[in-house]
Amino acid sequence: MKFYRVHQDTASAYTGSLDAVNKWCLPGVEPCSRCHAGGGSPWLSYPCVDLSSLPRTELEKLSDPWPVSREEFSRLQALVAPLAPSWALLEPGAQLGPCEGKGSGRFGSLFLSDAASLFVQQASLGGLVAAGVKGLEGCPVTIRFRGKQAPALLQLQLELHGLLHRDCLPAVREPPCLTCGARKEDWPRTLILDAASLPEDRDVFRHRQGWATVIVSERFVEAVTRLELDGVRFEELEVREG
Ligand SMILES: [Zn+2]
Repeated sequence: MKFYRVHQDTASAYTGSLDAVNKWCLPGVEPCSRCHAGGGSPWLSYPCVDLSSLPRTELEKLSDPWPVSREEFSRLQALVAPLAPSWALLEPGAQLGPCEGKGSGRFGSLFLSDAASLFVQQASLGGLVAAGVKGLEGCPVTIRFRGKQAPALLQLQLELHGLLHRDCLPAVREPPCLTCGARKEDWPRTLILDAASLPEDRDVFRHRQGWATVIVSERFVEAVTRLELDGVRFEELEVREG
């Protein structure tokens, strides 16, 4: 099985853009006293998670990305965990709930926002499901679109799979910080996927270590080609055994 990274097709004539975020988020964390790592990253998104049963005062805290202490972060993380999928990584900055905001322009069948969020038009999602593509869980966006034809977009909630093969990691790795566990490491310039870490029953997912990398299988690419869907392009990634 071949695997591909998804990119927005910038050569297409589509002009679609979103000025939107998910309804809730986990805040960032204050910098670590030892290694100064902190903040958060917005790449992990779980649009199908519904936090609306939580008290309003907590939802206010879960709407503000501003960094909090690690203790407060852990408390909010524990509050969210029972409402999120068991496989979800709930890291600082993770996005939760339906995508809300404004949009404009024309969208293709597929739309990749900020390299990390994959959106699919409702009709195209139906086609992909009917073609047997696995791993398609989507949540309709609540976005106000300017212009006559508002697209019916769904944001995919992507599972996390795939690890880097050791051949694309530095030979000598810095140990993780003793206080917070963060590891200072550059993302490899050329991605090599570890064959054993790739799923057989998921055709679209997020890289487990590089959260801004959306990966699809050969089956997904074949279905997109057959259905003549557009808006994104695919870059084959090297997969290595052992
Ligand atoms: Zn640290």
